[in-house]
Amino acid sequence: GSGAIATTVRTTCPYCGVGCGVSGAAGGSQMGGERTLAVSGDPAHPANKGRLCSKGSALGATVGLQGRLLEPSINGRVASWGEATALVAKRFRDTIARHGRDSVAFYVSGQLLTEDYYVANKLMKGFIGSGNIDTNSRLCMASAVAAHKQAFGADLVPGCYEDLDEADLVVFAGHNAAWTHPILFRRLEAAKARGQKHVVIDPRRTDTAEGADLHLAVAPQSDVRLWNGLLAEMDRRGLLDLDYVAEHVNGIDAVREALAQDDQSLAAVAADCGIAVEDLLAFYDLFAANPKTVSLFSMGSNQSAQGVAKGLAILNVHLATGRIGKPGSCPFSITGQPNAMGGRETGGMANTLAGHMDFAPEDRDRVARFWGAPHTARAPGLKAVEMFEAVRAGKIKAIWVMATNPAVSLPDAGAVREALEACPFVVVSDCVETDTTAYAHVKLPALAWAEKDGTVTNSERRISRQRALFPAPGQARADWRIMADVAQGMGFDGFGWASQASIFREWARLTAYENQGSRLLDLSGLSSMTPHDYAAMTPIQWPVRADGQGTPRLFVDGRFQTPDGRGRMVPVRPKGPADAVSDAFPMSLNTGRIRDQWHTMTRTGLAPDLCRHAPEPFVEIHPRDAKAVGIKDGALTRVSTARGEAVALARVTDRQRVGGLFMPMHWTDAFAPSGKSNHLIAPNLDPVSGQPEFKHTPARARPY
Ligand code: SF4
Repeated sequence: GSGAIATTVRTTCPYCGVGCGVSGAAGGSQMGGERTLAVSGDPAHPANKGRLCSKGSALGATVGLQGRLLEPSINGRVASWGEATALVAKRFRDTIARHGRDSVAFYVSGQLLTEDYYVANKLMKGFIGSGNIDTNSRLCMASAVAAHKQAFGADLVPGCYEDLDEADLVVFAGHNAAWTHPILFRRLEAAKARGQKHVVIDPRRTDTAEGADLHLAVAPQSDVRLWNGLLAEMDRRGLLDLDYVAEHVNGIDAVREALAQDDQSLAAVAADCGIAVEDLLAFYDLFAANPKTVSLFSMGSNQSAQGVAKGLAILNVHLATGRIGKPGSCPFSITGQPNAMGGRETGGMANTLAGHMDFAPEDRDRVARFWGAPHTARAPGLKAVEMFEAVRAGKIKAIWVMATNPAVSLPDAGAVREALEACPFVVVSDCVETDTTAYAHVKLPALAWAEKDGTVTNSERRISRQRALFPAPGQARADWRIMADVAQGMGFDGFGWASQASIFREWARLTAYENQGSRLLDLSGLSSMTPHDYAAMTPIQWPVRADGQGTPRLFVDGRFQTPDGRGRMVPVRPKGPADAVSDAFPMSLNTGRIRDQWHTMTRTGLAPDLCRHAPEPFVEIHPRDAKAVGIKDGALTRVSTARGEAVALARVTDRQRVGGLFMPMHWTDAFAPSGKSNHLIAPNLDPVSGQPEFKHTPARARPY
């Protein structure tokens, strides 16, 4: 290498929704295989104030070029960009001409930057004119999004990280923060040392549960029962904030009626949740005693066929007790991906348009006018799982997968592979070869984290810049540029941006367009940024009104974004899991992530330090269940469900609930084909959010 050391660049970590600021100094031969990167936490970034977790600290070990896609290819033959782009444009155009606008689809990713997401939506929803664009965020927080929309009128996360510092009680609902959001967890540990109380609701005794004041190892999918029981108990104790409700919230009567249909006695709730009455009471007492409460809810809540109901049950409690819009008090959806919100903002989900607008005719027309796109979609498209079902059924005949690996990460991943195999035209743009690129007719090399430049929005609505540390290797290009070229190849106007700064400005202008301040997703204060302002942009939380100031906390004045400005409590009733356990499959398989890996390991799998923590696929099982079928700790174990089979090493541990199994979801064909877990999962979906039930599949474990 040249050995030249670049100056320090401030960017954002790509590995979780905390959105930590990173200072990076790139060195080495920038075009060869010896790129080096020294990283440290950015002390000036409000999310992490200089800290990084194990994944962030290992970023330097994952910038090598092994496994990278570096040139476009068509059916395995190297092609020029011009050739590849022209082919994609032609095949999409021809497919639409023969089979209609809904015969094509994009499946995109929370790895995309907001500018990429904006362009993808403008192309598919605006100019192709189909709603068929969905994102892997569907697997992450689609249920929370749907709950926010019902309760608040839009997908709004009310709180900010300071609320975590200020709360007296933090409830972790299906959230193993110690592993999944480590830097926030350190902040919470510091608050705990000052007296903050922690309650963890999780069938597993995770590291988060280990140090908590109270751990409720609830039965699978009993969360709605637990939160409804809490609301009923607060009502019995006279602890609802009825003045707040009278002034700001609708729906309490309907919710009380729904609660009355179930036995809300402590004994009945505890029995249904599979926990001791004393533990249930301890939770309710802590909640009663600490009005400054933050309820973090994450995958354990969202990844469920009743994920929206779980979210609503949590929001109901916060609305009824007035624990929202105040320092240290809020329900807080905490999400997985670095661009936790950018996709939701720009319309990355099949059921929304850009700027928190949906398909109501006036919203749709407003977006269509702004884009000058008369064919803008009039109806939502297919959500992730349904999208691949439509591919398999032959209804979608051309699909473009960007920066995600559905052949591994979607539930019933075997069926997804069949769909891709059968699809007449598959385009994959990614920075690396993955299990999914194996099915691509056209592979397009995209920039990786260290080369991309744009913005992301983290879990507290904070927009931060990701900045390039290295020049593009090989032929790799920014996702937005690849899409803009294809759009122009299809003959569409409005895709001629010079840079990501102009895309961002257009996007910010859309949020303000005919908005008149009626929406909280308002970036008017950023809509006249010059390229220089954009280059120098510092982290800021939306809404950013015309005065250019950010907004840490929403609903401070008790006004929500519903037509009448009032929050909405929504009645929800408990339901069991989508598939009940049976004699053949008597256990509940739960899947999730581990501390040091990210998604399908395509990047973190390259860092030796990150692989050491859990080098092989494993399955956790309680000692009593292991003994019953003769499984020994460390032994190869076969896990089967109605969908398929996996082999993993047994970890016999009483951290696991009796009757439950846990498998990580990271392993792929490249790392350990027999240890893949997502092809075991039934595609049972929440009827509203379309989010799959990753946290419960009837299963069986046997010695290998
Ligand atoms: Fe990166 Fe998340 Fe770790 Fe922060 S907490 S360094 S954003 S992985």
